[in-house]
Amino acid sequence: MEEVREIRRLRSIAEILEWDQETYMPKKGVRVRSELLALAAGIAHERLVCDKMRGFVEGASADAGDFVAETNIRETRRTFERAANVPTDLVKELARMSSIAKDDWVAARKESDFSMFEPSLLKLVELKKQMAEHIGYRAEPYDALLDEFEPGATGRQIEGLFAELRDRIVTLLNRVKASAKQPDLTILNRSYPVPAQKLVSRRMAEALHYDFDAGRCDVTVHPFCCTLGGPEDVRITTRYVEKCLTPSLFGTLHEVGHALYEQGLPSEHTFTPCGEAISLGIHESQSRLWENFVGRSKPFWSFHWSSVKDAFPEALGEVSVDEFYAAINAATPSMIRVEADELTYNLHIILRFEIERGLFDGSLHAKDLPAIWNERMQKMLGITPKNDVEGCLQDIHWSMGGFGYFPTYALGNLYAAQFFAQAGEDLPDLADQIARNDNQPVLDWLRRNIHRHGQRYRAGELVEQVTGKPLSIDPLMNYLTKKLTPIYDL
Ligand code: ZN
Repeated sequence: MEEVREIRRLRSIAEILEWDQETYMPKKGVRVRSELLALAAGIAHERLVCDKMRGFVEGASADAGDFVAETNIRETRRTFERAANVPTDLVKELARMSSIAKDDWVAARKESDFSMFEPSLLKLVELKKQMAEHIGYRAEPYDALLDEFEPGATGRQIEGLFAELRDRIVTLLNRVKASAKQPDLTILNRSYPVPAQKLVSRRMAEALHYDFDAGRCDVTVHPFCCTLGGPEDVRITTRYVEKCLTPSLFGTLHEVGHALYEQGLPSEHTFTPCGEAISLGIHESQSRLWENFVGRSKPFWSFHWSSVKDAFPEALGEVSVDEFYAAINAATPSMIRVEADELTYNLHIILRFEIERGLFDGSLHAKDLPAIWNERMQKMLGITPKNDVEGCLQDIHWSMGGFGYFPTYALGNLYAAQFFAQAGEDLPDLADQIARNDNQPVLDWLRRNIHRHGQRYRAGELVEQVTGKPLSIDPLMNYLTKKLTPIYDL
């Protein structure tokens, strides 16, 4: 494990460099910074994929019941095998092709012409298929890609969940669209002075018990959360838009949710799998839980409304808490995933999952992508992108070879709903606590049930362990239906 910790320390050094690059590094620093990052990544890879580590991985065994050793061995073996089984030439070719594809994607976006990106997308899919063959998979090559982000998940399992989720969301969305009662969204797009936004964001982060002595908040174009040195150094970023309150408000709550998970991991296991997050989906469940299930809830706003209203007297002076609550929870079809609401967001993800899986099982050809995209947007959301930038070229993920990443966002919503429903059963006073700005009990519940375990359980096992049931779409659909019914008079 000392060797494992050393490799993770090297990665942590790289993350500090990356954090600095995103926040404070002068523009011209990028040339040397990329050399430093490549060196750190190269050393970490060599230390992982070597005979010494192979010997450790093959020879390691845990005493029965020693879950720390079991977890660390299982996850170290998985990481080692995923890295060691892929030939170095293929890794290099993938890195080379990803950077070409990213340039092509940028160029294609400029012209809003998917065909300029198609050849490199095809090549990336081909290389990723080869990679999947080397890594191995359960039923289909796509499973090997999913496994990088959501260990243990399979395309078939997600297909089942998502197909049902899609149909039920579309039904609910159609009722929402048909309603005569529609929230006034313009109240969110008034003038919100940035200094006041900063104060409000800070207050919200503190209300959720984000530990500023073990973190900080800076400003970036694309907000993120990163861990630079175990639970004691977990940083977030946010962004401020003068004409819109929601990016900083809910963006901060979202990243704080990620950060609370990282700050809650057991510090005695830092730099080993027992001290790390389970998967991207579980990570996303923590951010969504705080952002949406707590941060967009009635009890939360019954406490915070007056101070937020006071912070923005011009924009919110005449607005009631009910109008504000309806606006921040509105469900409206839109083209861009990152701007989507809680309900329709999942449809954006399901679309991407179906398309990327189709590219890998051969049922879908890259050249048909824009047409299929637009057709399914129309079918699910009732809107059609007017060009490829608004449609299939909007996300960076595929240009970086990030296939299998998208499903984790919607899985995060499903996990969050199931966890939060269970927390509500375990903590009968939960709503009252949130309404009193006492967020410690729900945080303690998450610490106890999720954070402290590190990677002891796979995501699916954790859900069963915590809630007594396998992952289901019911908690999310119940939550969304219950929330949207009064807002839209359904
Ligand atoms: Zn997130």
